[in-house]
Order: sequence, then C-alpha cells, then structure tokens
Amino acid sequence: MKKKVAFYTLGCKLNYSETSTISRQFSKAGFDTVNFTDQADVYVINTCSVTENADKKCRKVVKEALKYSPNAYITIVGCYAQLKPTEISEIPGVDMVLGAAEKFLIIDYINDLTKQPKTLVYNQDIAQTNQFIPAYSFGDRTRTFLKVQDGCDYSCTFCTIPLARGSSRSDSIESVISQANEIAASGVNEIVLTGVNLGDFGIRNGERENRFFDLVKALDEVKGINRIRISSIEPNLLTNEIIDYVSISKRFVPHFHIPLQSGSNKILGLMRRRYRRELYTERVAKIKELMPNCCIGVDVIVGFPGETREDFLETYDFLNQLDISYLHVFTYSERENTPAAQMPDPVPGSERADRSKMLHILSEKKRRAFYESQLGQHAEILFEADQKDGFMHGFSRNYVKIKAPYDPLLVNGIKNVQLMNIAPDGDVEILETAEILSH
Ligand code: SF4
Repeated sequence: MKKKVAFYTLGCKLNYSETSTISRQFSKAGFDTVNFTDQADVYVINTCSVTENADKKCRKVVKEALKYSPNAYITIVGCYAQLKPTEISEIPGVDMVLGAAEKFLIIDYINDLTKQPKTLVYNQDIAQTNQFIPAYSFGDRTRTFLKVQDGCDYSCTFCTIPLARGSSRSDSIESVISQANEIAASGVNEIVLTGVNLGDFGIRNGERENRFFDLVKALDEVKGINRIRISSIEPNLLTNEIIDYVSISKRFVPHFHIPLQSGSNKILGLMRRRYRRELYTERVAKIKELMPNCCIGVDVIVGFPGETREDFLETYDFLNQLDISYLHVFTYSERENTPAAQMPDPVPGSERADRSKMLHILSEKKRRAFYESQLGQHAEILFEADQKDGFMHGFSRNYVKIKAPYDPLLVNGIKNVQLMNIAPDGDVEILETAEILSH
C-alpha cells in the first residue's frame, strides 16, 4: 500500500515553492499526495515566523492534522522550525522538526515513519547554512512561484528572517533558465520570481557572481512563458536600468511590489533600512514616468517602537500623496533576538490596531482609484482555476483583479478583454472579446 502524505504551508511565496518541491520529492519516493483534510500517514507543515501569530498558527495546524489522522507522523519545517525547534518539539503530537538546511533531505530523515518516544530535532546552526536549494511551485496554482534567491545579508531591526534563513545566496542563471524552460514546457503562463531579498540575487558561495538585472535580461528570452512577475524588491535595489528594461520588456509585467515600511525618515533610521523616503519617491516617479499604468504595491509596518502619532501621520500623508496602487499593512510584532524588541517607547496595542485600520482604509482607496484609472482600457487577462458562486477570477499584466462567469475552457487561458466597471466586491467586471491569446 502506497503511503499517503499531506502538506500545509504557512507564510510566503518562497514557502509555497519549497513545499511544492518537497511534495515532488515524496512523489518520487513513492508516496501518494492527499489533501490536508484526508487521512494521511505523514504530514509536512511548512511554517512561517514573521509574527507571533505565525507561531500560533503552527500549533493550530498540528492539532487539525491529528484530528484527521491521530496516528500520523507529523513533521515541522520552515522558518519557525529553524528559529524555535525546542518550543515546537514540545507541541503534543509532533514527531520531527527539520531546520532550513535539513528540510530538503526530509525523505532521508523520515526513514520509516516509526513514531519515537521523543521528538526528533535536526537543525544545524543557520550560520552554516549557505547552500542554495532550487524550488518552484507547480500544479496547485495558475502561476508558478520560482525561487531564485534565499537568505538576507541586511539587518533590519524588526526582522528575524536572516536568523531563520541565513545569509544571502542564489541559484545560477543557467539553473534558473533551465527551470523556467521546464515550467514553460508544462503549459504554465506566468512565473512569479521569489526570494527573501530578491534584488540581491547573484551571490553564490559568499561571492557576488552577477546581479538581478543580469537574471532579468536572461529570463526575458525564455520562450513559452507569457509573463514574468517580480514578487517584491527592496527600493534601494530597484535600479533605473531594471525599471527601464521592464518598461520595454517582452515578458516582465508592469507591476512592482516595493517594501517601504515607514514614510518617516526617523523611523526608517530606527528600522535600519537602507534608504530614506526621498529615494522611494524617486523610484515611484521614475516608474510612473515610463509606465503610467504600472501597478505599485507597498509594504508598510505600523506601531514600530518609538513611532509617535506625528510619525505615523507623516507616513499616512506620504503614502496618501504617492501614486501607488495598494498597501500590505503589517502591525509591528516584537520578535525575539531582534534589536527592535529591546527598543524604548513601545506603541500600545490599541494604538497599533487603530493605525493599521487607517492604512487598510487608505489601501482600499488607493486600489479603487487605480482600478478606476484602468476602466475602459483593454487588458490581457490570465484566468485562474478558482470558482466561487459561479464566477472565476483572473489578473491583468498590471495586477488588476477581474471577475467573470465561470468557464472551464478559460482556465489558465489568456484573453483580451475590456475593463468595464468595479463590482460591489471590488473586483473589475469585463467585456470579453472573442480573442483567446494563448492557452
Ligand atoms: S531586507 Fe530586511 S526585512 Fe527584508 S528579509 Fe532582509 S532583514 Fe528582513
């Protein structure tokens, strides 16, 4: 009888690409992959540790897995597993905890699924973890997340990621191109490039071999891939040449997600970010000068220690006057072993919540204004596989989310449409043209 394995992923696109790669290792080893809610012999839970909540979520997922399969072998991998292996090993029902370097050797570690009296923990010191392991997601989405970079050499004072994922390291351009060709051959239309500090691509074995721009140019020549999206890039690493190139590129789409974190230079200093707000303004202006319809997403943290009401309003006004399209708002959460957790003047929880609410409202206002600026225009839509209440969704190259009556023939298809109006749920309704561009 083939053994059954089920997966659960918490966190970022990088985690999804790694879970998908690990699931292919299990298939190769003769396992059947089943849904998380089905009975399984082994569960692999890929964790995140960006916030306190993320840790809590892991516990909840373990409980859920044991509800479906009380005797299953539970393995925890990912950032939380690297940062707090002992804490996880005390969660009832967990059999094995694997660190950042060990997770891709899981098939060797789980061996015969025999439950041991004590939780097994394999987790080398992150400073030793400098090997880059390629990964990409496949099969569970229309778009493929392709991991090209891992780790980070920056030291933002609120962030645990360098402690969880180690130093900055990358795949070789040749290896990325061969994976992109593999993905193209599988019929996927869009690749989303992912990493921890993507713009820092090019470091191998501690030496810089090339730059992110070199990878962009090489990927733009990959036949069979219709779109390539840059998932996120630091403002100081988003160079003019990258913006110039994307504005004339065949495959790179006009959509940038650029972490800002704060609109106050005082707070950017306390965060130890590598730019000030003036550079951010320049980046946005440069993008909009070359690509007026470009979508710009912004990460911002509220409630950082020392952030006064005035500092927050400075951030609010800065974002309000910027020509951006949406925000991802994060409420500051103290993380162990980070300098920010020791900083004075913590912001009360209720005040953090209030500031988060204000920025969520601003984000909706920005998204609506961006969508309104696109109405009446034609756009190429990549249709997704989801179906909800008889409707399906899709995204334009510049990340406008549309809805249309469900049509199975359209799944993973690219079609030219006209953007008509904004539906009550905020998605854009379309007028389909006959033309199907690719399938
Ligand atoms: S750039 Fe800063 S916030 Fe981003 S992963 Fe690196 S240390 Fe963390």
